[in-house]
Amino acid sequence: MSRIFSGIQPSGELHIGNYLGAVKNWVKLQHEYDSIFCVVDYHAITVQYEPSQLRQRRREMIVSLLAAGIDPNVATVFVQSQVPEHTELAWIFNTITPLGELERQTQFKEKAQRQESVAAGLLNYPVLQAADILLYRADKVPVGEDQVQHLELSRVVARKWNSLFNDGEVFFAEPQPLLTPTRRVMGLDGKTKMSKSTGNTIGLLETPESIWEKLRPAVTDPKRIKRTDPGTPEVCNIYHLHKAFSAPETVDHVAVQCRTAGWGCIDCKRVLFDSMERELAPIRHRAEELSARPSDVDDAVASGAHRCSSLARETMDVVRERMGLAGAEPDGRIAGQSGSQSVNRV
Ligand code: SF4
Repeated sequence: MSRIFSGIQPSGELHIGNYLGAVKNWVKLQHEYDSIFCVVDYHAITVQYEPSQLRQRRREMIVSLLAAGIDPNVATVFVQSQVPEHTELAWIFNTITPLGELERQTQFKEKAQRQESVAAGLLNYPVLQAADILLYRADKVPVGEDQVQHLELSRVVARKWNSLFNDGEVFFAEPQPLLTPTRRVMGLDGKTKMSKSTGNTIGLLETPESIWEKLRPAVTDPKRIKRTDPGTPEVCNIYHLHKAFSAPETVDHVAVQCRTAGWGCIDCKRVLFDSMERELAPIRHRAEELSARPSDVDDAVASGAHRCSSLARETMDVVRERMGLAGAEPDGRIAGQSGSQSVNRV
């Protein structure tokens, strides 16, 4: 069975943007691939953060993932910093990644512009991503179009390592993108991508009252000023949310009602709200169950980390051996040395 790897930042509770843009697809893919899903806290520390908030957000993200339908009996879920080999392999890849490849990454340029002082970790972020994927020798990576460039870097790194240290033979296969079908989800302001930093989100676990409070004033087709003005559904974010949450016949009906001014926007939003509730209420219910049984969450992540540690060690044994590095034998001996001289781990 082919393997996929995907990571998500520990940004706290999921919002419907990252649910529709990534996690809903993961829930489906977990039955088709050997799936490894990782909460990438090493990535999260490339910008300023509060350690106590990081802990809390990591936990909330794991609860959100499990509530959204990631089944730890089917897929592997874990936290990146539980498996330190991610950073070890990232360092190794840093030594073979051309600086120019990193400097031309669009996401680095955008993020760096917003920072007063840019840490090297921000530049090297895609190297850690390459390590995340290649550590498990994943064949495919579910990504949105904005991540394709980073994945290309993973392929460059895989090729380069194979050529330098494996006689050109494939040890690290070049991971292929598995493009996520849902387009990027716009925020309730209808202007920018849904994101916590812009405050235009609906949380996956928000109460129905709170969801309606946000939906009611959400931006629609700006040309529908009066109730009798016909609208253009394609320019309206509410219509696109219908496409994500409502049945196809409802979506068709919405388009007709909008174009003919049969519905006002509030009518349309009420129908969307009902569709969202059908999908989100069971997710909220699962989250409540998980909060009542925190040991289920701990067990899921511990078992995921156990499996990933074992896979990571297998990869790193080969990498260290091929690169002439010392092994990590538990007794502190240096792998590949004859004799019985015992040393501290090198
Ligand atoms: S009727 Fe619906 S799709 Fe049309 S503009 Fe209003 S909210 Fe948008």
